[in-house]
Amino acid sequence: MSQAPLVGIVVVSHSAPLARAAVALAEEMLHGTSVRIEVAAGLDEHTLGTDAMKILAALTAADVGAGVVVLMDLGSAVLSTELALDLLDDDARDRVLLCPAPVVEGLVVAAVAAAGGAPRHEVCAEAVAALAGKQAHLGSAGPGDVPGAGAPPRSDGGTCESPDPDGGGVPRGVDEPVPARVGRFTVVNPHGLHARPAARLVQEVRSLDAAVTVRNVTTGSVAVPASSLSRVATLGALLGHEVEVATTGNQAREALDHVLALAGRAFDEETTPPPTTGGAGVAHAATSPVPSRDGGRPASPGIGVGPVWSARSAEPIDVPDATTDDPAADWRRVREAIADVRRAVQHSRARTARDVGEADATIFDAHVMLLDDTDLLDDVRTRIDAGQAGAPAWAATIGRVEADFAGLDDPYLQARAADVRAVGDQVLRVLLRIPAVTAKGVGVLVAADLTPADVADLDADRVVAVVLAQGSPTSHSAILARAKGIPVVVGAGAGVLAIPAGTVVAVDGTTGEIVVDPAPDVRAAFRYRAGVLAEARATALSHAADAATTTDGTGVLIAANLGSVDDAALAQVSGADLAGLVRTEFLFLGRGQAPDVDEQEKTYLALAEALGGARLTLRTLDVGGDKPLDYVPMSAEANPFLGVRGLRLSLARPGLLADQLLAIVRTARATPVSVMFPMVSTVAELVEARALLDEAVARDGRGIPAGLQVGIMVEVPATALKAARFAPLVDFFSIGTNDLTQYTMAAERGNDAVAAVGDPYDPGVLRLIQAVCDASGDALVAVCGELAADDLATPLLLGLGVRELSMSATAIPQVKEVVRSTDLAVARRLAALAVGAEGPDDVRGMLATSARQQGSP
Ligand code: PEP
Ligand code: MG
Repeated sequence: MSQAPLVGIVVVSHSAPLARAAVALAEEMLHGTSVRIEVAAGLDEHTLGTDAMKILAALTAADVGAGVVVLMDLGSAVLSTELALDLLDDDARDRVLLCPAPVVEGLVVAAVAAAGGAPRHEVCAEAVAALAGKQAHLGSAGPGDVPGAGAPPRSDGGTCESPDPDGGGVPRGVDEPVPARVGRFTVVNPHGLHARPAARLVQEVRSLDAAVTVRNVTTGSVAVPASSLSRVATLGALLGHEVEVATTGNQAREALDHVLALAGRAFDEETTPPPTTGGAGVAHAATSPVPSRDGGRPASPGIGVGPVWSARSAEPIDVPDATTDDPAADWRRVREAIADVRRAVQHSRARTARDVGEADATIFDAHVMLLDDTDLLDDVRTRIDAGQAGAPAWAATIGRVEADFAGLDDPYLQARAADVRAVGDQVLRVLLRIPAVTAKGVGVLVAADLTPADVADLDADRVVAVVLAQGSPTSHSAILARAKGIPVVVGAGAGVLAIPAGTVVAVDGTTGEIVVDPAPDVRAAFRYRAGVLAEARATALSHAADAATTTDGTGVLIAANLGSVDDAALAQVSGADLAGLVRTEFLFLGRGQAPDVDEQEKTYLALAEALGGARLTLRTLDVGGDKPLDYVPMSAEANPFLGVRGLRLSLARPGLLADQLLAIVRTARATPVSVMFPMVSTVAELVEARALLDEAVARDGRGIPAGLQVGIMVEVPATALKAARFAPLVDFFSIGTNDLTQYTMAAERGNDAVAAVGDPYDPGVLRLIQAVCDASGDALVAVCGELAADDLATPLLLGLGVRELSMSATAIPQVKEVVRSTDLAVARRLAALAVGAEGPDDVRGMLATSARQQGSP
């Protein structure tokens, strides 16, 4: 006899492991009855988030004829599910019920009800009542108060309502008003609460079960929902502004704590100003705007000469002013277009993370946030319901949000209007079936403006330069182009759009100069400048694998700083002698639990293999304070840079360090390894860390691995001054000039306002480097901060006694060239003068003069 189909269940969660564990728990209760439970959770196994397309697939798989009940966890889980629902056909949608029950308790009860053959309304109502037992036991609400017990759901294809908007479960009466929790923070981000930090805020808020509003106290703005990117970013909250946060709901307290802690961490924004050298083969070129000679503003350094081709991407899109008599169908088309664009943006993000780096890839997170912005979507929906067709409704809403940004006083925030336009146009192109831009030309790309996605698509081998009629040097497109090493001039005016395709144009992305159809002598001058740069780069690259030895025969190790296995592969082709700094944090951050010993060992071995078996300097976990780990409870600190970070945190949580050291010891059995402790301030800390290393060796049980070396980072001035006491305990010192400078000059490394003070060329910092070299005894002295990548500083560091320089891979060939042209006797004289100089500018002046005299490459 065939059995009637059972109701299926879909679990939508931010976390894949969480959802799977909940399902396993529920299945325990089924005693073999097979209920279809599908999971749509996480963006991938480790990345928290929800994805409408996954939910759509789960809904389809779970519906075996009797419909589906969906249980969702926090914030965007509901939004994504609603989006997925919109993408289902009408029949299937009518069989889906969104259930407001708590996921764990609800799932257990729903699974049992479904297994018993209950129809979906009943399954949902049962799930909603799942907290009854707990509430009765804790005395917070009598069973009679339990929301949803037996209450009929609103309708199919809709939600099964809970009378308690908070979902119950908190120890207070259902009718008691929810008190708002209020706190304030001061914006510390140099560019204010612009798209990226705002996106981070929205992301945090959406992951919690609380309603959060924010208000700019300084400007006296109204409170806006913190879950809406477009509303938050238009608060106009600039550096130094005071912002009030008000939270209500089940997790009101956590929400307030999280938001204030996040604000204290500058919304996890990397605020360090870009280095003045290094990058994709760009030598000594300023990335900040300098006066232009021909109307354009320099946005990415370098020189390009070639024929013009144009991209249509920024041509205004002609949106027909149409109306609709089927608002539901138009709304569906808009949601489908958004889903399409979301996938494309996520693709651009992944490619950028791979080609350029994770930090630049986060540009696209703000775009995804905009696509999920409830405020923005509500506005579009209202327009469509009022009779406007999808495309004009979307265009009107985007126009409003863009104008909000453009109307702000701060130029940086104004420039974010371009992000809104970019993502808005992407959706419009899908809606109106306008083909996407093909960025496949060769030569100088001229466009009105480019979206970050367009730039992510550009091939740096084909595009010799980019000229934009509009745009700003601080746009995300410009940031990406810089990271890809493509010269860019922005704000060149609409006139450039009239340059006929194929016309030769000479572009200098360092000065902003553009010469259309240059005369033969001008063309020759540009080509000469480009040639000099390219030749220097090519020469350096052709010798990259050779050793770096000074003219008097002193060998210097040129090493790479690594933050991923991909970095290691690039370092190998760039000629790295070893990895002088592996920032092992990359393995620990952005996940729910620490990697275990096996996973760590596997990753370290993969790094070694990608690096051709060269020595790995594995820095133990350097987090805490400004870089918190979700799975390590830490108190919020007023001054995280002066707080529990680096080795201090590791010693406070020795379990994590013990496991990491075991993984390092095991790795050292197979490949040369150095272990390096970060943020050491006292000899006692080092002694304690070394004792843990001894324990790891004992745990491994095979004696001390041959070739295992031990060193410390010198980032704290006191450590530099005590180098003689550390020297007998270490094989090497590695000076982290980024932190050493911030602590020496009392100038936070991410704070633009004190960037000029926090200068590693300051003689005070140089004296500390000298102190380490002078007291190092038999230990090698390395530098692994950004100063190591600056070839102007190379002779100075060698003259002070540094014998290893560790940097990002792209800087290696050029620094090796400079080492090869350095005479140590001259370098020592330079160093002696530099430490006695008055200020950093004098030091730079001396070095530049000496480089000219020596004919440095
Ligand atoms: C430094 O402080 O110079 C350093 C290399 O460490 P990090 O930049 O990772 O703090
Ligand atoms: Mg450091």
